[in-house]
Amino acid sequence: MDKLKIAIQKSGRLYDDSIKLLKDCSIEVNIGIDKLKTTALNFPLEILFLRDDDIPQYLEDGVADIGIVGKNVLLEKRKKIKIKETLGFGKCRLAIAIPKSLVYKEINDLNGKIIATSYPFLVREFFEKKYIKAEIHEISGAVEIAPGIGLADCICDLVSSGSTLFMNGLKEVETILQSEAVLASNLHLGKPQNIIMKKLLFRIRSVKKAKNNKYILLNVSNEHLEKIISHLPGIKSLVILPLANSKCSSVHFVVNENDFWGIIENLKALGAQDILVLPIEKIIL
Ligand code: ATP
Ligand code: MG
Repeated sequence: MDKLKIAIQKSGRLYDDSIKLLKDCSIEVNIGIDKLKTTALNFPLEILFLRDDDIPQYLEDGVADIGIVGKNVLLEKRKKIKIKETLGFGKCRLAIAIPKSLVYKEINDLNGKIIATSYPFLVREFFEKKYIKAEIHEISGAVEIAPGIGLADCICDLVSSGSTLFMNGLKEVETILQSEAVLASNLHLGKPQNIIMKKLLFRIRSVKKAKNNKYILLNVSNEHLEKIISHLPGIKSLVILPLANSKCSSVHFVVNENDFWGIIENLKALGAQDILVLPIEKIIL
């Protein structure tokens, strides 16, 4: 049977969320001890476990058909592959940081500096756009210690909370890129692989959509019902049911996470009671 080969990180920050994404898509995976590759039990998918830096090359070469990798790695490697979907996890930014003690007013303060990074291409591209002349010193790990040991004046590295920078006496001064995990694909997938990828993307989008939405149930006395409904413009899946207590109704609807608190505060002020908020597992469009 035809299978789609997906490359995911073998271990590291993207591993847990990549496996969880497959699980949320109802794809069962048995992970063996050696963890080099495995086959899904109920979906035509072969999973290859690789270092994240190698995934773009393997996708370009067709060793894997699709892969999950940080946008940061994908853009740095500049391989001929295509982003099919952003995945909403592994969020971080690629940022320039300098020793806390240095005064920083503007980007020109970076002129003439030595900068340590594992992202030489993205840093060079950023500096060229800003007309900054700095020396890029490529190192593969522990970038944050470079200024402390006299290897560089400043660094460009991935940051999420900023605590690593803080612990190393550094402060963030410029953001080069906002990153998150993406699903990327080889440019020349065979027809069967393309069909399987579309099925997988359909599941991933349903899961993503569900995560961004909540299902709300609330009760309201009938005298406030009209007002409550008029405050739900554009709400999809609105259901109104009479309660056993004939003076009250139950109202159900789906709301986007971003609008959630604003809408709920309004509805409460208008007389909504017993508000229940439920997670949604999948939304099939
Ligand atoms: P590998 O052994 O696979 O090469 P790695 O050590 O290079 O792993 P990780 O540190 O596991 O990589 O990070 C993998 C990806 O997780 C990063 O490329 C980035 O997209 C994302 N990420 C999210 N937050 C952070 C963060 N604070 N620091 C580093 N990476 C982050
Ligand atoms: Mg890596």
